[in-house]
Amino acid sequence: MDNRSLNNLNTLHPKLRQTAIDAWTEAQAAMPANVQIIVIQGLRTFAESDALYAQGRTAPGQIVTNAAAGQSYHNYGLAFDFAMVTNGKNDYIVGPNWMKVVAIMKAQGMTWGGDFPPSIYDAPHFENKFGHNWRDLLALHNAGTFIPGTSYVDI
Ligand SMILES: [Zn+2]
Repeated sequence: MDNRSLNNLNTLHPKLRQTAIDAWTEAQAAMPANVQIIVIQGLRTFAESDALYAQGRTAPGQIVTNAAAGQSYHNYGLAFDFAMVTNGKNDYIVGPNWMKVVAIMKAQGMTWGGDFPPSIYDAPHFENKFGHNWRDLLALHNAGTFIPGTSYVDI
């Protein structure tokens, strides 16, 4: 696995981390030699989310997210995004290779952002909420219910 993917997967919640690494390894192995899949985002801190949410609202730029801090599963390390690179170029086509990645991730319990309603459709996104929703998770976060020594909510 490439270092960027591994570094990003290593930011995931401990409950998800190893499953995601194993699934990612399996997915990369299922790709043809000219296709690389790269995890480009794992954990997104609350501060990073605040900055992204401001973009296009109270800060310059275009709106890039509908999720304020605490409303994204990335904020809890329970989501990750990937890019597909075919013949050295970013490939946004949700074709057979992409769907092979989706199938492997779903088999490992991930929900795919491509199954979200059109307004929030997000083909590069996977998440596993472990039965929670962001409101539960935010309440745990705000109560300081973390795995000891970490900033991951204790679920
Ligand atoms: Zn995402």
